[in-house]
Amino acid sequence: MENIAIITYNCISRTTSFPSGWHERNGRKALLLQNTKGEGSWQDGQIDADRRREQVRTLWDELRAELPKLDHVVVYVGANGSQSAIALAAQLSPAKVTFVGCDCGLLEKEVLVRAAGMGDARRLLCECGGHVTLERMFHRFLESGELISDDPS
Ligand SMILES: [Zn+2]
Repeated sequence: MENIAIITYNCISRTTSFPSGWHERNGRKALLLQNTKGEGSWQDGQIDADRRREQVRTLWDELRAELPKLDHVVVYVGANGSQSAIALAAQLSPAKVTFVGCDCGLLEKEVLVRAAGMGDARRLLCECGGHVTLERMFHRFLESGELISDDPS
C-alpha cells in the first residue's frame, strides 16, 4: 500500500489540526478528507443527520476525483449519516475499504454494510467520533505502510 484516503465527517484529530488533502511521508501518501468547518467536530457539538449526509457527499466527490490513485480507503461510520457513507463506499471493491465505526447502532451498520454488498470489507471498532483511532491509523500508515498493528506484511 502506498496511497490511502481517510474520510470522515468529523475532523481526524481532536488535539491536532491536520489540513485536509494529501500528506506525504516516507514515500507514502495519505489523503485526508474531513470536516474542517467545525460543524461536525467533537468540540463544537454535533451536526444533524441531514447536514452529515450532505457533508459525506461533498467529501465523497473529492474522494472520487482521487480514486484512481488510491490503494485503500478508510471510511468512518458514525452514529448518524452512516447510511450514505456506506452506500457511497459500496462503489469501491470491498477489498479496498476499511470501515471504522463506534458501536452506536452497530447492528444497523452491519446490516447496511452487508446489504450494500460490502460484507467482505474490513471492519474496525473505534471510540465515538473516531478521532483517536483515525489519527493513529493515519500516523501508522505513513510510518510503516500498515493501517492496523496486525496487518500482514
Ligand atoms: Zn458512538
